[in-house]
Amino acid sequence: MEIKILVVDDEIDFLETTVKRLKKKQLDAMGVSSGEDALVKIKEKYFDVILLDIKMPGGMDGIEALREIKRERPLSEVILLTGHGSVESSVEGMRLGAFDYILKPAKFEDLCEKIAQAYMKKSDQDNKIRKANIQKLLRFPGRVFDQD
Ligand SMILES: [Mg+2]
Repeated sequence: MEIKILVVDDEIDFLETTVKRLKKKQLDAMGVSSGEDALVKIKEKYFDVILLDIKMPGGMDGIEALREIKRERPLSEVILLTGHGSVESSVEGMRLGAFDYILKPAKFEDLCEKIAQAYMKKSDQDNKIRKANIQKLLRFPGRVFDQD
């Protein structure tokens, strides 16, 4: 099972390089350059981890995109990509449910480390949900036949 990662950044060089390097690690990575495109993508496909630039031109900045992503995909973990001028926005982002933020320019190794942490948290949550579902299934073993 490959980790599915979406990278969202308006800096095309950074976007393409990051996606290429993640793919080289056999990760299922893809990139888009705006918040609007990110919202289209997350409806088409499920991503474990989303790297999201805070400062993007156009109608939707990273914080606005984060709000929508968390509404649509509450279990996807979001890591904010933050310039030195937007640390306060990242704090707001954490309140809105972002997993963490990382300062740009970020080292690729540091990005990978953060992605790994986010994925581990997500896996824990998935396991808890799976266990709860199994418990639901086993709690009333005779119930299926009550309807007959
Ligand atoms: Mg930007």
